[in-house]
Amino acid sequence: MTAKIIDGKAIAAEVRAKVGERVAELGKRGVVPGLATVLVGEDPASKVYVASKRKACAQAGIKAWDHDLDASTPQEELLDLLARLNEDPSVHGILVQLPLPEHVDEETVLNAVLPHKDADGFHPCNLGRLVTGDHVIAPATPAGIQEMLLRSSVETAGAEVVIVGRSNIVGKPLAALMVQKASGANATVTLCHTGTKDLAAHTKRADILVAAIGRAKAITGPMIAPGATVIDVGINRTDEGLVGDVDFAAASEIAGAITPVPGGVGPMTIAMLLSNTVTLAERGG
Ligand code: NDP
Repeated sequence: MTAKIIDGKAIAAEVRAKVGERVAELGKRGVVPGLATVLVGEDPASKVYVASKRKACAQAGIKAWDHDLDASTPQEELLDLLARLNEDPSVHGILVQLPLPEHVDEETVLNAVLPHKDADGFHPCNLGRLVTGDHVIAPATPAGIQEMLLRSSVETAGAEVVIVGRSNIVGKPLAALMVQKASGANATVTLCHTGTKDLAAHTKRADILVAAIGRAKAITGPMIAPGATVIDVGINRTDEGLVGDVDFAAASEIAGAITPVPGGVGPMTIAMLLSNTVTLAERGG
């Protein structure tokens, strides 16, 4: 079997076109959605991600406020900045790029963003609402995966969804999303991690397999069920260039559909961040 490629770039373009229409609607009410992005330090990957987010904002008509802070910035200074952004009515969404330097407590910082300005959906209030299913926004990567499945007509209701990786930004919120009794969800979810016994036994059962591991080609061909939909979240910099967490060449021979890296989940994450920002602006930020 040769898997169908799920083109994240093309689907993201559809989402971004819709975002553009919503920005135009807001414009009629005199509202320009605003996203403040905060980058602390010089992590090369983070710099690339933040630059693409800012560029995408500009293309969508979202005003981007760029705050680039030195790696040695004291936590108090970062919290002061977030307090100012929380109070600024022209800032509807705030994004703090992770990871933060070691001397900064991530939880304290994420908790300092007002929940109704939390563009990434990482505030505990927003994560709690995701679990109960009455969320307004969801973290961008899981939301992007769900949107991609919906727009690719992949049936999730009753599907066995196996997620490998339990991070707070991908695996856990995706599990919370997919298990809801809702459209684009209603799946039977298994969440795997390093404590999982016999990982392949789980992955081989998956109708939809999501790899969010952070290890190049960790999911090999024999770990995939014939015809499965494979969503590769991983971004690993290797001598071969950027590769995902799935052995793409082997998986393509077995899976029914697969996302490429790059050009799969990454563009969807950015599109959903824009969508989240506009949602916050529509609700008055
Ligand atoms: P984390 O490092 O926070 O989490 C990795 C998870 O994978 C952990 O839960 C870990 O388990 C699990 N894991 C690691 N090795 C194994 C293994 N051998 N078997 C089973 N489980 C394993 O990663 P993130 O969730 O932040 O990111 C994952 C990947 O996705 C990275 O490559 C990252 O760059 C990429 N990413 C891509 C995005 C995009 O937009 N495309 C957005 C966000 C991330 P344990 O908890 O037990 O340690």
